[in-house]
Amino acid sequence: MDVTLEVDDSRLTKLVQALAEQKVRFWERRWDVYTNAELEAARLLAVWYFSPEGSIFAGPRVGTTYDMSDACKHCGAGARQTSAQVVDAKELHVLEGRRAAATCYNDMLVDEKLAAALAESGATGLAFRGVLAAFEQRGHFQLPWRQMCATHTLPPMSPRSSGVEPYTPCVCGRSSFSMPEEVPLRLAYRSSDLVDIRDVNVTWEWFGDFHFEGDVSDALFPYPLFLVTPKIWRIFRDEGVTGFRWLPIHVVDE
Ligand SMILES: [Zn+2]
Repeated sequence: MDVTLEVDDSRLTKLVQALAEQKVRFWERRWDVYTNAELEAARLLAVWYFSPEGSIFAGPRVGTTYDMSDACKHCGAGARQTSAQVVDAKELHVLEGRRAAATCYNDMLVDEKLAAALAESGATGLAFRGVLAAFEQRGHFQLPWRQMCATHTLPPMSPRSSGVEPYTPCVCGRSSFSMPEEVPLRLAYRSSDLVDIRDVNVTWEWFGDFHFEGDVSDALFPYPLFLVTPKIWRIFRDEGVTGFRWLPIHVVDE
């Protein structure tokens, strides 16, 4: 069950107190809320997928393949996908009734109609791959979905970002970033980082836990965040897509 309250709502303190007293486990995540005018005026929007059903399991452990030649040998950051995106057929119910969804590695999946609208829009920095469901024993089946892939990676973000924290950093400096739940995510970029942006981009930083000992089929990869222009947000909105939050980046001097 989800409850959404404003941070200065007195009911929030009472609720947190009551849950603690009853020893009920809960997660509190804070985020900023923006008006449509603010989203429209943003240079880029971080795409944040949320769904009560969670994200579908996909990636290296179900058969998606990757070229690791430019990736970090320790964490796998920079792994370049070389096949269709394979998702776990046991979890297909997670996609039911949705127009777009993210996998557990933040791969963006869109249905065919939304993929067509995106392609027709002439959005830059965007490529598509097929999506396959992996059934145990019975092989792979093509799904009526497409994976939205970004062809452009942004430079490292400004250290003035908040809600992005390195933990047990990898030697590459590119992974092991997490988003602590109690600090709102605010991504900052210098204006010079934005001269070469496309409509669809990914962050240089890769987030989340990883496990990589050289065998891709046994790997858990970190993943980048998607940053898109308001044009992509408008297409999602006009197509009636739900389940995403859009967070404007902050542009800073340095
Ligand atoms: Zn690394």
